[in-house]
Amino acid sequence: MKSLVDTLCELVAQVGEVVDAVHREGLVAAATDADQAVALELLGRLGRRVDAVAIEVVSEVTTRSESVVREERLTARLGCRSVSEFVQRTTRLGPQTVGRLERAARATRRGRSVFSGELEPAALPAMREALLDGEVGLDGVLAVAEPLSSLVSGVSREALLVADQVLAAGARGEGPDGAPPLCADLLKVQARVWAVVLDQDGAEPRERQALLKRALTLGPARDGLVPIQGRLLPEVAAQLQRIFDASLSPKVAGDGVRFVEADASDAPAPHDDRRRPQQQHDAFAGALAAAAVSGELPTIGGAAPTLVVSVRSEDLESGHGWAHTEGTVEPLSLTAARHVGCAGVVQRVTLGDNGRILRLGTEERVFNRYQRRAIALRDGGCIIPGCGVPAGWCEIHHVTGHALGGPTHTDNGVLLCWYHHRFIDRNGWSIRMNRGVPEVRAPSWIDARMLWRPVTRSPTRLRDRIVRQT
Ligand SMILES: [Zn+2]
Repeated sequence: MKSLVDTLCELVAQVGEVVDAVHREGLVAAATDADQAVALELLGRLGRRVDAVAIEVVSEVTTRSESVVREERLTARLGCRSVSEFVQRTTRLGPQTVGRLERAARATRRGRSVFSGELEPAALPAMREALLDGEVGLDGVLAVAEPLSSLVSGVSREALLVADQVLAAGARGEGPDGAPPLCADLLKVQARVWAVVLDQDGAEPRERQALLKRALTLGPARDGLVPIQGRLLPEVAAQLQRIFDASLSPKVAGDGVRFVEADASDAPAPHDDRRRPQQQHDAFAGALAAAAVSGELPTIGGAAPTLVVSVRSEDLESGHGWAHTEGTVEPLSLTAARHVGCAGVVQRVTLGDNGRILRLGTEERVFNRYQRRAIALRDGGCIIPGCGVPAGWCEIHHVTGHALGGPTHTDNGVLLCWYHHRFIDRNGWSIRMNRGVPEVRAPSWIDARMLWRPVTRSPTRLRDRIVRQT
């Protein structure tokens, strides 16, 4: 009997000769259209046969690497930490493909009984036969194995064997409907249907697994951005989606903030140049800010979980330098610091040259709850025309900056959404207070006349206005 290595060496040499001839003689270009199809069919068959041997070898390597004694493991003896590393190094495949080989091996391998030492049937015996016969390859095995292995509990071995048999027959083209052999994708669809039918427990076990896998993490900052990654439970994702939708839905006429002046109707509707992902980021920022000031979140040291930003007051006044947030090293721009300070609380700390705290100011709470309610009543939402973010989601902007001595008075505060507040310096809109009434001047490309116009979306004030006109 020839050894495994001798046999495969012979095979590789033969394949090498054939492939060399194909390229040398230009056989692909010379073949007819019909022959291209036949060629692909044959190559698929060859690939499936090679898959079957590869899966079998990975399966054997796994079995020989399972010992609890490290020195007894095949992988350890050959200097590898895991089966995956060993297979990657020997085959030059990537970790994903090796992971797939390992999963296919688990579904089709025949283990040995620890009691009798006899070979046990594979988890999916009919799929194993189809694999050995070259009827399915790696993709086909996984198409069946993955949906069926997701069945957590409550499925009898008999029921699983029926599914295995029916699906393997479909893969061979021997199903009762007389359909040709199923490709991996169709096989997967059918296997999923079987999994749903067999899953007596419904969605519950799936949810238990999902609960374990739920995650949300912030990565290290790079290029001024912090990556966010995670897996949300479906209802959490749906809630977030609702928040995006609520603050991003296209504003229907009459719903957005409007100029109070009647002649403003000739101004074209302002357009939003943000892309959808950018808008979603800003909606998320607005939701976080609204939650932080809602008073319904747990407190830290007795205070609401507000963002703390430190900045040198000279830098803030001169507009040059950097600010920092607590707990991160990534610096913030002064625009960001001004934004946070404008909407939040400012406390001045004077440090000496040696770093000693010389003077500690008290918290200057910017706009209390009563002022906020009154401003919300007056403005009704973000005052930038066409924006439409509702009052509950808005921040209060100091029209004359707090750092510039602007008072914390309703006559100096207007509602802005996170986006318009953050970028008020550069988006071309100007805001002023005219005897306690907010007025907005649009950039020239929106309003060529660049007039100051009073704004509101407060239903009460809009109604008053209509009543006065009639
Ligand atoms: Zn806005």
